[in-house]
Amino acid sequence: MDMKRVLLKLSGEALAGSKKTGFDEETVRGVARQVKQAVDAGVEVGIVTGGGNFWRGRTGNEIDRTKADQIGMLATVMNCIYVSEIFRGEGMDTVVMTPFQVGAMTELFSKDKAVEAFKAHKVVFFAGGTGHPYFSTDTGAALRAVEIEADCMLLAKAVDGVYDSDPKTNPNARKFDRISIAEVVEKHLQVVDMTASVICEENHMPLVVFGLNEENGIANALKGKVSGTIVTAD
Ligand code: UDP
Repeated sequence: MDMKRVLLKLSGEALAGSKKTGFDEETVRGVARQVKQAVDAGVEVGIVTGGGNFWRGRTGNEIDRTKADQIGMLATVMNCIYVSEIFRGEGMDTVVMTPFQVGAMTELFSKDKAVEAFKAHKVVFFAGGTGHPYFSTDTGAALRAVEIEADCMLLAKAVDGVYDSDPKTNPNARKFDRISIAEVVEKHLQVVDMTASVICEENHMPLVVFGLNEENGIANALKGKVSGTIVTAD
């Protein structure tokens, strides 16, 4: 698989390490060092983070869903600002873009500005999801991957690949080395949510799924070495 420009999706949990909430600096530094290997090798890297380490709209059901989702989107902005700073500390140039104005803290997203930043060897953080409630950061990531014409979307997940059933509850669950996105959609497999899966299917965006806790998992995936699952999208 050609890895010239990729979109890496990190769930909020991936930033929290064993703490489960907030940030774990060492965990994020570990991510930064792995991404730096790829950036130094000339790969253009875009990043979408989740917000689950702070807030998920669907769990805040005591308030209006739209407002709860706004809090979730803002959580992803906090995440991206933090991760971006850690990346800078590790020697990378970065920019944080959002689909809505956050004063002078982020830049407003446009494809042209993102591509310009890639050409300047910057890691581009796409914060704030799609900018709309009732969507997820998986969908935001799929959308940005398609818009920036990424070669693929990399997903660092708690589960180390795509299985035919939930490996946490079924000890006989079978892991796929390779599966098509059409099959993922048809069988409702839990790779990304359905909206994101359909965006990837319609726009032929392949996915690489690997374990969050895998030693050097991100660096290996960025080099095209996959021990998880490749989701093809031809
Ligand atoms: N969110 C949203 N629109 C988007 C992306 C995210 O409203 O386009 C909100 C939603 O409330 C979601 C929260 O942000 O629950 C955090 O994102 P997500 O649950 O995808 O984070 P993850 O589970 O990957 O940490």
